[in-house]
This record gives sequence, structure tokens and C-alpha cells, in this order.
Amino acid sequence: MTTKLEVFVDYVCPFCFLVEEAIEELRDQRDVEIEVQPFELRPDPVPTLRPEDDYLPRIWGASVYPMARRLGMEISLPTISPQPRTDKAFVVLQLAKEHGVGQAYSEAVFRAFFQRDRNIGEDEVIVDVAESVGLNRPDVVAALASQDRRHRQQEDQDFAVNSVGVSAVPSFRVDGRLASGVLSAEQLIRLVDGAGATRAVTLTAPKLQAVMEEAVEECITHVDGGGLPFVGVVVGASGVISKYGVNRVQETSDPCAHAEIVAMRDALASQGRDSLAGTTLVATGEPCGLCYRFAIDHQVTAIYVAVDRDAVAEWGFDYRASYSALGISDDQRSGLLHHLPVERGAEPFARYLRIHTHQPSANTLSRTTN
Ligand SMILES: [Zn+2]
Repeated sequence: MTTKLEVFVDYVCPFCFLVEEAIEELRDQRDVEIEVQPFELRPDPVPTLRPEDDYLPRIWGASVYPMARRLGMEISLPTISPQPRTDKAFVVLQLAKEHGVGQAYSEAVFRAFFQRDRNIGEDEVIVDVAESVGLNRPDVVAALASQDRRHRQQEDQDFAVNSVGVSAVPSFRVDGRLASGVLSAEQLIRLVDGAGATRAVTLTAPKLQAVMEEAVEECITHVDGGGLPFVGVVVGASGVISKYGVNRVQETSDPCAHAEIVAMRDALASQGRDSLAGTTLVATGEPCGLCYRFAIDHQVTAIYVAVDRDAVAEWGFDYRASYSALGISDDQRSGLLHHLPVERGAEPFARYLRIHTHQPSANTLSRTTN
């Protein structure tokens, strides 16, 4: 039986492009019908981002490029400034879907923007891209001029935000269940199969983004006060169920008091339970092997990270050897891990480096743990 999977994307979001290979693999492995759905991250009149400002180069350096290298995908930060709006490209997505080429068209738009540095907000570029997947030029031109299609794009955007509850892209919806982030092929397969791992996550998906943003802000404050750039927090079906944990190794002389373990212990204590089954660990930087061990031993259902371990390593905290040391297999890790990039995700690391660059010796030790 064919399962329908809706994928909410914005054409200016690199993570939506990077997740395409996982979607392809899903299509190889399962009988799925993919429907690309529009979600404008910055609809008019919200200003779009500019590549010469701080934010884009930082998130690309911290997250996009490391992830692309790992996936073997070619991508570069487009130079178009300010970044294009995507409403017009989405208007033509309607036409593409009517002709059964929605996915091919979307992929071609991503490639035009992220591989060929083309301005996908311009009519001529959109027409070119649409023609490249077999659409008729006059049809595309007519679609771009159609007020009806403009209205439909508005309605689709409202539907994604208000009815589906999409707050981040890429987001995936199957059978009413919603998951967000750069999911791996295995995670997409589990979502489609309706297996347990995504259940707790889907209950709270719209909230997770807000929790991650709050965790990052807590983390920035902690770094400004001299702390390490890691915060962990546990989320249950009803919302946050722990404090925003920070590293307490020095104060407590407990070598296990990493930010995430502090949060998980707090959740266990405050809930009076000995398992964290059904809960999600939200961490600003990917947890180390020790923290994964604790999470697995306490049946945490999913781990969401703003910045993964490879990107964290590029900021100077390389604990990648800790996974095998704690017996965490790649399968166990990928079964739990979800990427949830947020705007200021790299800020704690950037600040930490700014504050501590001149005292490397004092941090040699603390930098090996989170
Ligand atoms: Zn840790």
C-alpha cells in the first residue's frame, strides 16, 4: 500500500536540500508518494536574510558545510542579496504538482539556488527551472501571472502554519504525525512505518523548536557567565520536564555532571521516575558518548541537537572518540539523533571562542567534555 508523505520545505533552506538524498533512499525502500508542500520561512513582509551579514556564514560554517561534506553533497552559500522570497517559485510548484513533477521541480529549484547561485525569486529563472523538468513555458508564465494561484499559495502557507503546526523546515507529515529536522533515511523509514521512535517526538514537534531556541539563549547566558557552551533539557508530552541543565563537573567534582546528564537526572528526580521512555532530550550541541550512554540506559526516545558533533568539533570540542569508548554504535546514535538547526545555534560556540581565545591553556581540560 502506498503511504503518502508530505514534506514541508522552503527553497532557501539548505537543510531542505540536504535531506533530499534521505528522501530518495526512502523512496527506494518503501512504497511512498511524496508531496512537496510550501512553507515560507520569511513570508512578505518579513525581511529575508543577507549572505554578507554574520548569521548565514556562521550557520553555514557550523552546520551546513559539515553536513554536506558528510553526505557528499555539493552546496554553496548563494551570493544573492538579500535572499529571494520563494512565493513565486511555490506558485509554479502548484503547476508542477498538477503535472506530476513536483519533486523533480523542487529538486531543480534547490540546485539552481544552492549549486548554480541563481536568483530563484526571478521569473526568468523560475521559468528556466520549470522548463528543465518538462513544463511548458507559456503555462509557467501564465501561472506566475495568476492571482488565483497567488491566493492558493497564501492558503497553503496558512494551512502549514495554522492547521499542520509547521514551525521549522524540513518537516514531514505522515498520517497526521509530524516530525521536523534533517532526518536520516532510517528515521524517515521509521516515520513511514509508524514505529515508536517518532511518536514522542511528533507529539511535541511544534514545541521543540521553541524549546531549542530557549536552550540556546540559556546557553549564551551561561557562556557569557564563564560556562561551557552546552545546555540540555528534557521534554515530555506535556512540555519541558527538567531544568535547562549546564555542565556542573567543576562545581560538583562529579565527572558525569555534563549538561545533558544534569538535565536527565533532574527530569528523573522531578518526575519521580526511573525511566525517561517517551521523552526527548533537547541539546544545543550533540551529546557526547557518556551522555548518549545515560540517555540510552534511561530509554530516552529521541535526541534533538542544534549543532551536531562534527560541527561542534570544528568549534574546538572534539569528543567523537567517546562514542565507541562508551559502546555507542553508529546505529544507536542515528536511531536517536535528529537535527534541529535554529537561528542562533552556533552563537554559544562563537562567543565561547571569543571569550576564551586568549587563555587556551585554562580550557584544554574542560574542552574535552560537554
Ligand atoms: Zn556529555
